[in-house]
Amino acid sequence: MNLEHLNALKQLLSTPRKIAIIPHKNPDGDAIGSTLALWHYVINKGHNASIVSPNDAPKFLKWMPGADKILNFEKQNSQAKSCIGAADVIFTLDFNHLGRVGQMSELLEESSATFVMVDHHQEPSDYAKIMYSDVTMSSTCEMVYHLIGLLGDVDQITKEMANCIYTGIMTDTGSFKFAATTSNTHRVVADLMDRGAEGTEIHHRIYDTNSPSRLHLLGCALKNMVILEEYHTAYITLSQEELDKYNYQKGDTEGFVNYGLTLDGINFAIIFIENKEEGILKISFRSVGDFSVNDFARKHFNGGGHTNAAGGKSEDSIEDTIKYFTSLLPQYQNQLQS
Ligand code: 5GP
Ligand code: MN
Repeated sequence: MNLEHLNALKQLLSTPRKIAIIPHKNPDGDAIGSTLALWHYVINKGHNASIVSPNDAPKFLKWMPGADKILNFEKQNSQAKSCIGAADVIFTLDFNHLGRVGQMSELLEESSATFVMVDHHQEPSDYAKIMYSDVTMSSTCEMVYHLIGLLGDVDQITKEMANCIYTGIMTDTGSFKFAATTSNTHRVVADLMDRGAEGTEIHHRIYDTNSPSRLHLLGCALKNMVILEEYHTAYITLSQEELDKYNYQKGDTEGFVNYGLTLDGINFAIIFIENKEEGILKISFRSVGDFSVNDFARKHFNGGGHTNAAGGKSEDSIEDTIKYFTSLLPQYQNQLQS
């Protein structure tokens, strides 16, 4: 974060403010972890603050300290609206263009609050007056840790905050395995453990609380996997009918896309998930190596993200989307080899 923006933030937070903290739609561990950690921090500093999420968080994140206080824009609409309307500071965490909050974007566009962006995705847009954008960071949670440090308050990281930050770093790095995990990430995690973060317990709460139906849905997803060896690609589809059959609950498909990359020789993994209610397919892209799924998602599927993890959507049927997707692969054949 450059000094000018840091000083502006220090100045901004030097008097009590009304703060709204916003994660992206379909919030993941990093979005919920970072917003909660920041929320604890500013509340402890004497500000008035609320987290407003565009929609609900998955159940496996709801144990996090403070999660029960998060306002859900879909379910608590009037409360959420008045909170954003009254805010003089709005933090947006783990995303960098306003389209990522869905229906809530209008409200943010109309707001005259000072926007603060904390995010690690590529190609940030320019809605925020104060920006902390760093694409080399493992997670927004790691950035919240550094931000609190830059504000001179690392000693104010409580056990609750440490647990929230640990969770987001752990989920966004695939348990400290993805390429963005640096020695510095491990140093941050070590310090969080010294401050009370309960690593083993967090792993258990995130990864070992499956329902039998989720594992059956995973079985279905793995059966549906198509391997395209010549393109080093593996994709999975899940139709609405299949989701219904296995009693899909929000968050159940989290991580499924990564199974493609566990195959020897596969560098590009995709999952297409039908959402009849929204009339779209939600797509997740993952890669290993230099092939940029951010570029791919941005160019062809109205999405974006990071070099090795991105998302996007399609308004066509599964069949047509797969046809279109496979028609794109020949032009990437060389890039997909390494
Ligand atoms: P996931 O596949 O887990 O939903 O998302 C992977 C990464 O891409 C995350 O960092 C997420 O924030 C980002 N991402 C997911 N969907 C979209 C999208 O529709 N647009 C953009 N710009 N980024 C996305
Ligand atoms: Mn993230």
